[in-house]
This record gives sequence, C-alpha cells and structure tokens, in this order.
Amino acid sequence: MLEEILSRAKENGVSRMAAIGTSSEDWNLYEGLSKQFKGIIYYSVGLHPCYVDENFEQEIEKLEIFLKSDNEPIALGEMGLDYFHLPKGLNEIEKIVELQKMAFAKQLHLAAKYKLPVVIHSRNAFSDCLEIIEKSDVAWEKVLFHCFSEGIEEIKELNERGGRASFTGIITFKKNGFLREALKQQSIKNVILETDSPYLAPEPKRGKENEPSYLHYIGESVTSYLNISIQELSEISFYNTNKFYEINV
Ligand SMILES: [Zn+2]
Repeated sequence: MLEEILSRAKENGVSRMAAIGTSSEDWNLYEGLSKQFKGIIYYSVGLHPCYVDENFEQEIEKLEIFLKSDNEPIALGEMGLDYFHLPKGLNEIEKIVELQKMAFAKQLHLAAKYKLPVVIHSRNAFSDCLEIIEKSDVAWEKVLFHCFSEGIEEIKELNERGGRASFTGIITFKKNGFLREALKQQSIKNVILETDSPYLAPEPKRGKENEPSYLHYIGESVTSYLNISIQELSEISFYNTNKFYEINV
C-alpha cells in the first residue's frame, strides 16, 4: 500500500514528502519511514493541539529524544491552537484552550533552542497563534502556517512579520475564493503547496482519501489564476519547501 502510494507520487512529480507528526503515537513511525525512505520521506515531530491534554508535558519531554537523535526531524510541528474542535461546556473549553496555549509555547521554546522550523496548525485561532509566536524566540522566517484557511488581511499580517502560509486542496473548492486571494497576496515567489494527506483531497478527488500524488491538482487549479505554468509553479513550490525545511535541493 505504502509502496504504491510512493510510486504514484513519483509518477506525478512528487519526489519528496514530509510526514508531519501529530502525537507520540506517530513520531516513531515517521522517524522510521524517514530512515527507510531516506531522501524521499522526511519527518517532523510535534504535539497537535487536538491531542493536547493534561499529560502534555510528558509528551513534549519525549520530543527531545528525536531532537537529540542522529536522525533529526526537519521541523517541529504540527503545533498550535484549534478552536474548532473543542469540548462542550465553557469550563472545559477554557481549560483545554489554556493547555493548548501552554503546549504551543513550550514547543516554540524547543524549536528556538534547536533552531528548527515550525509547522503551525491554526483553526479559528489566527490572532492567538500570532500572539504566542510573537512572544517566543522563534524567528518568523521559520514559521509556516500549514493549511492556511484565513483571508487576505491575515496573510498580510503573517507575511509582514516574515512568516509564511502553505496551501492545501481546500484552495481548489469553488467557494474558497478568499484562499486564492490569499495565495496571490503572498505572491508566487513565496508559494508553498501541500496535500495534508490523508485529509482534504483536492477537486476532482474531493471526499476521497488524499495522497501525495494529488498535489498536482492543487497546483493546476491555481495556475491560470496566478498566470504561471504548472512547471514553473511546481519548481518554485519545490524549491521553497526544501529551503524552508533546510533540505538540500
Ligand atoms: Zn493541521
């Protein structure tokens, strides 16, 4: 299954992939894959806000094992805030938001210590995310808001600071013109595309399980809009992504 996914990716021009960590349940798996498929699969470790609970400190302690290892991750993340998937009840919400904020700040601190880029997950929490990053020691050039889901004003705020956004298949959905505007605002020279597999399959695969080979659908859907060829767009996105993660091209 995985071999097939990788060969379809290759056939569709995807030569490198980042397996992005979300909790200690997947970090070992991704680290292993990055060894097995060296130069093709890279990995990150991070505690996604949806997996933050009272035990977050023990989880974050485990991150340092990877950061100190010979096979270092390319980034820390996903980390951030998710105000979309919240429990019911005001007290519960307040408690979990507080925990998410603490887990986020701690991971930013680690990223600054190890000078690693960060992959931010922000859902309905853009300004709080900005505020927490602002207070951290992480350089804005190392900040990537993945699956950008905000509009033109927000991307200006992010870009002004030196941070960047990457775009997923949701940019292909007809109703999401505001995302295409945000992409354009960030400019072609800063473009980064991603699939967020297995989620958020782009049109015309919407609703199916997403995979890296679908990346070209995302690119193709915006080329005419950006007035750029698919070849150029893929070259720039590939270059920018490698540069962001400090991987040699
Ligand atoms: Zn995410």
